[in-house]
Amino acid sequence: MDSSDTGSSVSSSSQPNEGDTNNPLWSYVTKVEKLSDSGGNTLWQCNFCGVVKKSSYIRVKGHLLKLSNGIGPCKNVTNELLASMKKLEAEAKAKMKDNAPKKVPLPPFYLAWYVKW
Ligand SMILES: [Zn+2]
Repeated sequence: MDSSDTGSSVSSSSQPNEGDTNNPLWSYVTKVEKLSDSGGNTLWQCNFCGVVKKSSYIRVKGHLLKLSNGIGPCKNVTNELLASMKKLEAEAKAKMKDNAPKKVPLPPFYLAWYVKW
């Protein structure tokens, strides 16, 4: 029963919403309104308990994963749901790490020593 086809039309107006792929838990809430104030706040409604909040993704996550970060845990999220959402989060995090540029440490003194000659 998890093959829910969300027929939501994503309007890509100005810029690609790359944050959503990194923040998979947005799909468990309904975005009511994207607010243009600083901090990336969005007005959203929880799909499980129906509560409406204005916050950034970190608090959406806190609500769904029942973290203690201010807005209160979702009372309708079951342990099963919690586990699958945590998994989604972990996968997204791993993906972000994969895409992060890797720093290759090069010994600069090698070159500097050589140039001196
Ligand atoms: Zn909720």
